[in-house]
Amino acid sequence: MSRFLLEHLADDSLDDELQSAAEHDCESTACLIARIAEAYRRRHFARSGFSSMNSYCVHKLHLSEDAASKRIQVARKALIFPVIFHAIADGRVHLTGMALLMPFVDEENVEDLIAAATHRSRREIELMLADRFPRPDEEEGVEELPTGAERSSRNRSGVRPLAPGRYLVQFTVTEDQHERLQYALQLMSHRNPTGNLAFLHRTALESLIEELEQEKFGATDDPRDGEGHSSGRHVPEAVKREVWKRDGGRCAFVSAAGRRCESRWQIEYDHELAFARGGEATVDNIRLLCRAHNQYAAECTYGAGFMKEKRARGSDVNFVNAPGHLGVDSHAPGHVVADAPGRLGVDPHAPGHVAVDAPGHLEPDSDAPAHVGLGQGKQRENWAEGPA
Ligand SMILES: [Zn+2]
Repeated sequence: MSRFLLEHLADDSLDDELQSAAEHDCESTACLIARIAEAYRRRHFARSGFSSMNSYCVHKLHLSEDAASKRIQVARKALIFPVIFHAIADGRVHLTGMALLMPFVDEENVEDLIAAATHRSRREIELMLADRFPRPDEEEGVEELPTGAERSSRNRSGVRPLAPGRYLVQFTVTEDQHERLQYALQLMSHRNPTGNLAFLHRTALESLIEELEQEKFGATDDPRDGEGHSSGRHVPEAVKREVWKRDGGRCAFVSAAGRRCESRWQIEYDHELAFARGGEATVDNIRLLCRAHNQYAAECTYGAGFMKEKRARGSDVNFVNAPGHLGVDSHAPGHVVADAPGRLGVDPHAPGHVAVDAPGHLEPDSDAPAHVGLGQGKQRENWAEGPA
């Protein structure tokens, strides 16, 4: 008999089995989080060829992005406050509730917050947090946020596939950006007489990409331009171009088991044989690495302790906004919502956000929470800085 067909169960047994399955679920959630925490602590993801713990969870463990980010968020805090593991394992606080607490916990309040959240619903925990950590009133003129599922699906990601080859890109702009957008549309109105936002987006992207490529590897139509000899730590533009082409603009780190990272996120030029050890800035010795693997490689060369100290001295502390989480709880006065796949659109009953459709795909590749509760934690620590 299938273990999933339970029609034969008596009501009492069903009750017991529900209870025991729910308990088992809590225990196994805590066990998974503990393993994620340990993999995070020892940078196991980098060694395994992944650019972040999030990427590891999604591509190796096949968790959803949301499930991964919630577990990582909790795991990072649980490394500091192990009581979190226990509260999840014995079913006192569910994972969603625990994730809500994370931006607020510190040494003084962790036990207290867990007690206050014990056996509370998500809504009750949100109210408890609002009570203890009140936020100032929103200013007048703020748009009414969509509620429930609609809101969370809107906030969760800036890019949504609509149909094969078609994406909805949605983000929030300020009044000032909105004016610039209108101005740009006016300036290009001969080329773009219908004021098509996707056309503007594509044109703007072409200019931006050209500028960024110039910055990244001195792309030029004339390959002789900027050619130089390799002296010192500086990587000549010609070498950068060649390496970028060879590595395909992707992280070239390969794990011992043969997995290539291939992340395109925060790509940097790395001396395979360290500069300090005589490595030259030649095509053979320069490779592309994502930031996580660049730091991992540095730790392998110089030791984790040395690199940690170096970062602690402040030279390399890197706070960044979570990539790919556009518009998360960032609704500010004067913002508007508009959904306009393939055409210019300003939604009259939602003053302030703009959605454009555009080809391409935004690749969130970080360990930042997918959804930030109560507007906190808009910045994240780089993974290399250790658990927050
Ligand atoms: Zn990488």
